[in-house]
Amino acid sequence: VSPEEEHAPARILDGRGLALDMFAATAREVDALRAERGRAVGVAVVKVGDDAASGVYARRILKTAARVGADGRVIELASTTTRIELAQVLRRLSRDADTSGVILQLPLPTGLDVRHVIEDLDPLKDLDGIHPFNAGLVSRGEIGFAPSCAEAALVILRHFGIALAGRPAVVVGRSNVVGRPVQQLLLRESATVTVCHRQTRDLAAELARAEVVIVAAGSPGLVDGSILRPGSVVVDCGINVLADGTIVGDVDVPSALSVVDALTPVPGGVGPVTNAVLMDHLVRAVRAQAEGGFPDAQPMESRA
Ligand code: NAD
Repeated sequence: VSPEEEHAPARILDGRGLALDMFAATAREVDALRAERGRAVGVAVVKVGDDAASGVYARRILKTAARVGADGRVIELASTTTRIELAQVLRRLSRDADTSGVILQLPLPTGLDVRHVIEDLDPLKDLDGIHPFNAGLVSRGEIGFAPSCAEAALVILRHFGIALAGRPAVVVGRSNVVGRPVQQLLLRESATVTVCHRQTRDLAAELARAEVVIVAAGSPGLVDGSILRPGSVVVDCGINVLADGTIVGDVDVPSALSVVDALTPVPGGVGPVTNAVLMDHLVRAVRAQAEGGFPDAQPMESRA
């Protein structure tokens, strides 16, 4: 019997079912908050310019908000919007009592730099964790809003009971949206983390040691069964649209399935959980604003 035939079928870590459970829990919290505060819980998506993907994403957030009983609206700004105008919109939303969360769609059109406007957004309303204050909290292992896709990867690992403490974990990708915050969140869970990127000399050598792998490179088929460690758990954050319109992740699923212990599918893995995390952040944003800050993180002693 070849080793491949002996391999038990890999588990598919279903993000859709998990997201449904999370939506249901969030909907109950939104109900309770509405009753408590006597006002709706609202989220605003700010979209600058007419990027098609960004439009699809904005509509998806509105659907997601409706699902949990929150008010959602999209603020569409022309691609000619100036830095001062965008900053004013963000300041207005930051003060608006009917808006508990704000999602600024990135990337911004050429000529607008998110770094020039981001400080006009209240970090306690920054649901997708793009404000440097939140990035700082996350990098210190404290409680703040992490980018939703990065947090979704960790939510999946926790939900499916994948242990992290002490284990070798490899992150492929180091963007501020996914790879970098995933590294920090894994470290918060005491994993032993290696981060790979385009300049990594030998990706296969790094992956050979990894018991947990998070891939966020945006490159279909980058990671396949030949370079994964047998028995590893793989979370695929990639979303790639092929020429025929099919959506795939960064992992070559057929070859990976015969090697790994568990794998998130694309679609139906990290994507739906990312939406659910955003709505969970909305509820946490309402609380953080009421309390004037985020709750304290776990004591640091155990995490030095
Ligand atoms: P990015 O292009 O900003 O970063 C990609 C990272 O991968 C870089 O750090 C790069 O160095 C690394 N990389 C690329 N090719 C590599 C290679 N051959 N070997 C090693 N490292 C390599 O992309 P991003 O914004 O971080 O997004 C990554 C993927 O995650 C994309 O497919 C994106 O669509 C997806 N994504 C998904 C969600 C979600 O909600 N599920 C959210 C954001 C991004």
